[in-house]
Amino acid sequence: MAPAQTLKWMERGVGPATENVEIEGTEPYIVGGHTSSGYWVDTDRQTTIAGLYAAGDVAGGCPQKYVTGSLVEGEIAAEAVIGYITTKSTRTRNCQLTEILSQEAFIEEEDKKYEEISNYFVNPGGVYTVNQLEEAMQKVMDEYAGGISGNYGYNEVKLTIAKNRIQDIIKLAGKLHADDNYDLMKIYELIDRLVVAKTVIAHLQARKETRWHSFQENLDYPEQNDKDYFVYINSILKDGEIQIMKRNFVDRRQTYEHKN
Ligand SMILES: Cc1cc2nc3c(=O)[nH]c(=O)nc-3n(C[C@H](O)[C@H](O)[C@H](O)COP(=O)(O)OP(=O)(O)OC[C@H]3O[C@@H](n4cnc5c(N)ncnc54)[C@H](O)[C@@H]3O)c2cc1C
Repeated sequence: MAPAQTLKWMERGVGPATENVEIEGTEPYIVGGHTSSGYWVDTDRQTTIAGLYAAGDVAGGCPQKYVTGSLVEGEIAAEAVIGYITTKSTRTRNCQLTEILSQEAFIEEEDKKYEEISNYFVNPGGVYTVNQLEEAMQKVMDEYAGGISGNYGYNEVKLTIAKNRIQDIIKLAGKLHADDNYDLMKIYELIDRLVVAKTVIAHLQARKETRWHSFQENLDYPEQNDKDYFVYINSILKDGEIQIMKRNFVDRRQTYEHKN
């Protein structure tokens, strides 16, 4: 699992019998196979967007799936994708009318996006660079949203500070300047990460309990709470705002919860 550590030992002519593993006890996981977090998928691994599939670390609701589980999910998704593509021609015909109706909205949306992208090339450029804002984001998340420097602990006060500071950085990111497409890509990568940061904070705020000690310590709610334990914290992003909803676990013998 850690070839770099083995190589480091070999390089120095030592081994585990004489020297401990030098570890950083952390795992920077936001969506991942070790947790239940990720995108909401159905049994075929289709997300809430038709035709978009998620497997492995990005697919939610299934903790501890690891490499092997991710591979299996990849296979399930691939088979479902083939099915989707095969039936797509029929679906396309059925959807033609709806598509024509929504074309206007689509063009409007594209125009807005074009304007947004163009702005980055004409922005005069502010005081900060992309890298500086990214550093600031990391620092906010580390110090106020349960990072390693605070031993994964956070509380409501800290999360509110984190939320406000991330919002400030999002505003500053809108003023960044791009010289070329590479700069533009870096700006959008930063914006994507800021959206993830904002979402993580909202999810941390919504779960009023500590369920996995050492991964996260909600200092306002240090105990496990059965009312909150048996729910998924889900969210949707609408008009830039995160809306949280709690979904109860259901008895899988009756229905598969991810279908709902
Ligand atoms: C510290 C740590 C230790 C772990 N230990 C174990 C272990 O011992 N055993 C075990 O079974 N599992 C372990 N896991 C879990 C396992 O590594 C993951 O569950 C598994 O790798 C997930 O596979 P995946 O294909 O879903 O995602 P990934 O392996 O993350 O693959 C996603 C790929 O997509 C690429 N990508 C991202 N964005 C883009 C883009 N825009 N365009 C193109 N490509 C893109 C990435 O570069 C990456 O290569 C560990 C994970 C971590 C973090």
